[in-house]
Formats: sequence, C-alpha cells, structure tokens
Amino acid sequence: MTQIMTPLVANIVFLLGIVAWYVIRYPFQRRAKKLGVARSVGGRHDRILLAIAGFSQFLFPAIYAITGEPSFADYGFNPWQAWLGVVVLIGALALFRVTHKQLGRNWSISLETRSEHKLVTDGLYGYVRHPMYSSFFLSAVAQLLLLQNWIAGPIGLIGMGLLFFLRVPREEKVMTETFGDEYRAYMKRTARIIPWIY
Ligand code: SAH
Repeated sequence: MTQIMTPLVANIVFLLGIVAWYVIRYPFQRRAKKLGVARSVGGRHDRILLAIAGFSQFLFPAIYAITGEPSFADYGFNPWQAWLGVVVLIGALALFRVTHKQLGRNWSISLETRSEHKLVTDGLYGYVRHPMYSSFFLSAVAQLLLLQNWIAGPIGLIGMGLLFFLRVPREEKVMTETFGDEYRAYMKRTARIIPWIY
C-alpha cells in the first residue's frame, strides 16, 4: 500500500477530486439557472469570498499539483497521511452530493432565496444547518493531507474558514428574515457544521 502512494499519485487524486466536484455540481448548477430568484443578498462581499475560496481550494493547490511549486515548502512525504487524505476526500464528495440532493431546488451558489423557497430541515439538515459547508471543510482537510506542502496543503482550510465565518452570519440572517420563527426554532435544535458539537 505504501509503495503505491507517491506524491505523484496524491497529486492526481487531488486533481480527480476537483473533477468529481464539478461533475457532482454541474446538473444542479444547470438547473439553478432556470429557477426564479426572490431575493439576492450576496453582492460583492459574497463574490470576493467565493473567489478566495476558489483560489485556495482549487486554483492554488491545482497549480501545485501540476507544477510542484512552491516546492521550497514541501516536507517529507508520508504515504499513510496521503491514504487518509483519500478516505477523507471520498467522504467529502459523498457528503457534497447528498447535500445537493437534499437541498434540491433551494441550492444556489451565491446567497439568495428562491421564489418558491422551502426550508429544508430533514435528512442531514436535521442535524446541522450547513452540511454543504461541512463537506467543504472535509475537502480542505483532504487537501491538507494529500498535498504535503506547508502552503498548498493548509491554504484551503484558511480560505474555507474565511468563507464560513464571514458568510454564515449573513446566510442565517437572510434565512431568519425569510422564515422567521420557523428558522429560529430550527437553529435551536441544530448545530452549524458538526452534529451536536458546533
Ligand atoms: N449553508 C447550507 C446551504 C449552502 S447553499 C449548507 O451548507 O448546506 C446556499 C443557499 O442555500 C443560500 O442561498 C440559502 O438560501 C439556502 N439555504 C441554506 N440553508 C437552507 C435550508 N435549511 N433550507 C433551504 N435553503 C437553505
């Protein structure tokens, strides 16, 4: 097992993860374009956050996986760490797909509400309010484990942390404005990203 896993294989797994991410999202993104928007609150704030997340979880690490730069920040490659990364990545992608299915027509890339927005509170959404962001954090952890470089590895967690802490308060505000007491009650019985913990 340890012989199969080399830095090259870890890099390829990471890039395949990006491809899988797009394949999972594509049909939802296509459908989302046709659905009516009731209220859009994302604005420039949200576009900047999405760009930061895209840079730190896709662009920068993909450049590293392809070119090996910045190589000065590499540390000794541990195959077991990379294998753990593979497991976490598969979990992240599975979770990513389930959240898209469960959120259905209510999903959108930026912060907005649909003309026929339905508050989803069952399935994974019965445990946490932001399971799709949980899946992003898991993919950032997979990035940390697979790309054994002091910059390309942890940068995803930093970008995702920024997106999460700066976006979620706004998202929860809009949801509260749209669904009122229904969302307040929902907040009381759910965690944000880690069931029962946070
Ligand atoms: N934060 C959620 C959803 C991300 S997609 C998650 O991590 O799973 C972002 C859009 O989903 C927002 O524009 C918001 O309108 C919508 N949304 C968030 N939580 C929702 C819920 N419980 N039910 C329906 N729509 C929701």
